Amino acid sequence: MDIKQLLGLPDLLDVKKIICVQPHPDDNEVGAAGTLRALALRGCEIVYITVTDGSASGSTGAPTTEEIVRIREYEKQAAGQLLGVSKQIDLGFHDMGDYSEDDLLKQLIPIIRAEKPDMLMTVDPWMPYEAHPDHIKTGKAVATAMLFAANKVRFPEGEPHAVPQIAFYATSHPNTFIDITTHWETKLASILAHKSQFDNEEWPMLRMYFEYQASQLHRKLNLDQAGFAEAFKVLASQQLHFFPAALYS
Ligand SMILES: [Zn+2]
Repeated sequence: MDIKQLLGLPDLLDVKKIICVQPHPDDNEVGAAGTLRALALRGCEIVYITVTDGSASGSTGAPTTEEIVRIREYEKQAAGQLLGVSKQIDLGFHDMGDYSEDDLLKQLIPIIRAEKPDMLMTVDPWMPYEAHPDHIKTGKAVATAMLFAANKVRFPEGEPHAVPQIAFYATSHPNTFIDITTHWETKLASILAHKSQFDNEEWPMLRMYFEYQASQLHRKLNLDQAGFAEAFKVLASQQLHFFPAALYS
């Protein structure tokens, strides 16, 4: 039995407002740009929350941390405009900084309650071998925020808001595949908008790798023609606690 059907939850492409929380300024594009473009074209309101300032990147060539942050902020805005992102919120934690999951939670709860999305999206913190602390802390904090935003137990200020679903990208256990063939070039353009990260001599190799991965995911859709897809682990909020079968859903 599919719990999402049981609960009457909409498919990923049918949500009306989504908050996408990324650890670094380019994660949403690499993980989900094609799907986000499709959502924007269907009238979905997309809000980005970027957890860190991207200052640990050495590839900008900028001499100071302030300059790196400024470049990455500019690139993030450009990428979001290509996709149709409505609003960008920066939490400003230091890239690879010593902030805690709880620090992050305190920032996320008021935003979720104010924006009232019907889906959250973020990196999968339970991807085996994920070692980057910003990704692990972000994914876990977003999942926990989903539980805590819905009631006043831990955070009494503000009106509770229950977000019914969450979609994790960069996941090893996907259960949802989105055909993004028609948005593939836009996805690549949005990744390349992060010029300091991708517009270099490694790009042809990386592009080939992205295309291979996305074409493999597209095969899961069992369509007649080849194409590109993105993969997500979509879970109902009920599956985020005491729900062993969530791994296999
Ligand atoms: Zn990242």
